[in-house]
Amino acid sequence: MSRGRPPYLQTAGNPPFIDRHYPKAAELLRSWDGEEELTGTALIGVPISKPSISHSGASFTPGVVRKLLQSYSTYAVEDEVDLRESANLMDAGDIYMHATDIKESYRRMEETVASLLAGNKECVPLFIGGDHSITFSTLSGMSQMKQGKIGVIQFDAHHDLRNTDDGGPTNGTPFRRLLEAGVLQGDHLVQIGIRNYSNSSYYHQYAKENGVKVFTMGDVKNRGIAEVIRESVDHLRGKVEHLYLSIDIDVLDQAFAPGCPAIGPGGMTSDQLLEAIYLLGKEDKVCGLDIVEIDPTIDFRDMTSRVAVHCLLEFLRSRGSKR
Ligand code: CA
Repeated sequence: MSRGRPPYLQTAGNPPFIDRHYPKAAELLRSWDGEEELTGTALIGVPISKPSISHSGASFTPGVVRKLLQSYSTYAVEDEVDLRESANLMDAGDIYMHATDIKESYRRMEETVASLLAGNKECVPLFIGGDHSITFSTLSGMSQMKQGKIGVIQFDAHHDLRNTDDGGPTNGTPFRRLLEAGVLQGDHLVQIGIRNYSNSSYYHQYAKENGVKVFTMGDVKNRGIAEVIRESVDHLRGKVEHLYLSIDIDVLDQAFAPGCPAIGPGGMTSDQLLEAIYLLGKEDKVCGLDIVEIDPTIDFRDMTSRVAVHCLLEFLRSRGSKR
């Protein structure tokens, strides 16, 4: 009698069905050994949601996004491209957070990002949050290591310019903090998808007074997303050396993103967001991105996390197509 593993008794966690001619997007993700230089895109989980103003389980998103890469293929039918041939995606891992000390977690994020980029200058990090408070730390870490200024294109229903006196550094404050810390200049920030009844007059005025370029949902609807992206890139051209994309999934209409803590009507369609990411992926200046504000614990059939997965795949497709 052989004591080996019987052929049909698989290692736990393997997919129940494998089609040899249907490669899964999960195959794109190679686990980083910590030694090989990161020269392309690198997935980095940023699992923190305790700083959220409202209840959020966004810290679970990195694991869900990795799992959902099993649900899609590597093939883009629109341009007949297999991402296995054009994309280079490493899984750098998750940043380990402090269980109770949020400011210590922010410090760890900033230190990790700066340290990673110090040793891997060509790395383009794709941060999977987490709530939106992570952007202060990821961008602060990146700005330490990048020569020249970084501009930000933010997709969001909200300005995220709240004061920190009323609640500390929450997920409503990251861009206020970046402006106040001098990491980001007001006219180097473009906000797309800002919508009614999700902001106050005070913070809208604050955005205008600080030179933030704001495209409301009305602008997206009236001009079309391609034109808004063109104007955004034109606005930042000549001002900054690098571009960082911050994608708050609550920019989407609640019909497309039921798993956001702050859902609401009147937002973008997932198709508009994916087109925007594809267009921006062609910009050589893009040095990294984050995708935030998905709470898998309240999502429906992982619909919202699936948008995040497609954002990643469209970004990879776009980058590959310009080579
Ligand atoms: Ca936000």
